[in-house]
Amino acid sequence: MKIIRTIAELRQWSRDARQNSKTVALVPTMGALHAGHASLIRAAAASCGAVAVSIFVNPTQFGPSEDYAVYPRSFEADCALAEGQGAAVVFAPTVEEVYPAGAATFIEVEGLSGCLDGKSRPGHFRGVATVVAKLLIAAEPDRAFFGQKDAAQVSVLRRMTVDLRLATEIVVCPIVREADGLALSSRNAYLSPTERIQALTLSRVIRQAEALAASGERRADVLVEAARKTFAAEPELRVDYIELVNWATLQSVETAAPGTLFAVAAWVGATRLIDNTILP
Ligand code: AMP
Repeated sequence: MKIIRTIAELRQWSRDARQNSKTVALVPTMGALHAGHASLIRAAAASCGAVAVSIFVNPTQFGPSEDYAVYPRSFEADCALAEGQGAAVVFAPTVEEVYPAGAATFIEVEGLSGCLDGKSRPGHFRGVATVVAKLLIAAEPDRAFFGQKDAAQVSVLRRMTVDLRLATEIVVCPIVREADGLALSSRNAYLSPTERIQALTLSRVIRQAEALAASGERRADVLVEAARKTFAAEPELRVDYIELVNWATLQSVETAAPGTLFAVAAWVGATRLIDNTILP
């Protein structure tokens, strides 16, 4: 497996792969890879002949008081995992390579970028859209793979690729969970043993919403209230949002329909966690 540090070299690798009749995939990540990332790389390798995994902790998607400086970094182990799942390339640029001195160009997906996580993390989706646009322009992949775990991110990036008329197909892979239900996240590493138990409330709330929806409950306010009660049983958790939205537009709905996104975010101690489900 090759490690590439510059955008010029990544672009050349992609063009060479396509010359050799290979379908090119990109899996954007911030590293600290776990089984969720592994599932994206495997899905990419299953349908594409040339898979690049990018590992870049993107400073512009972190707020000033967020965890950019301490975000977990484990480059050697990440490379081993990526290679084991079928990646041909790890793209690991410096911040200066992605944001040249004086960088002044950003992508704002208006409307969507102020919804869900964008509400409590102003500027987050601007940073995400900007870095993913740069990666897609550099790697020119046929397909880019993202996790449903970050469901609002998917909506923002789908809108962006349509608006910019990018040729890349966005592929979304299911949420990978621990055996007890907790959605895998690089930030789970921050949780103390007690917080790890409290964090299970998020997946409990998700399963509850799925069960209520499966039994025919469609009213958003009833589903949100049930979730709020379950969260209240764990007073150490601070709820950020509980929302039912149209997955494409991220606009609130009053009545759940097939494909409605039920999403939650909560603070467990100093760690903000998210989880979601697409209702049946
Ligand atoms: P990150 O490194 O956190 O930026 O995540 C990189 C990609 O992995 C994103 O598309 C995430 O949605 C995806 N991802 C993170 N956690 C999971 C998970 N538990 N299951 C599936 N995909 C995930």
